[in-house]
Amino acid sequence: MTEFKLVKKEIVEHQLVAITCNCCAKRHELQTYYDEHLANFHNIEIEGGYGSEYPQDMDRVSFTLCSDCLKSIVSTFKVKPMIEDCSMTE
Ligand SMILES: [Zn+2]
Repeated sequence: MTEFKLVKKEIVEHQLVAITCNCCAKRHELQTYYDEHLANFHNIEIEGGYGSEYPQDMDRVSFTLCSDCLKSIVSTFKVKPMIEDCSMTE
């Protein structure tokens, strides 16, 4: 026979409260769990493979860009990046 009792547990978790663009320092504090302004902040991670100069071997660079900064940086590219409509691929 197994017996159970209800035990109240406290749960501690990380909750996103604000996001900041690393480029321009624009900061947005979240008002609700889902905040439509989050769509204009982009978390970018780049891992360096073996022999990579930057980031160096197996290092990872992580940063956040707002849409304005991302658009501004991409506009400086000599070769335009590919932009796809991802809504049709899923
Ligand atoms: Zn920015």
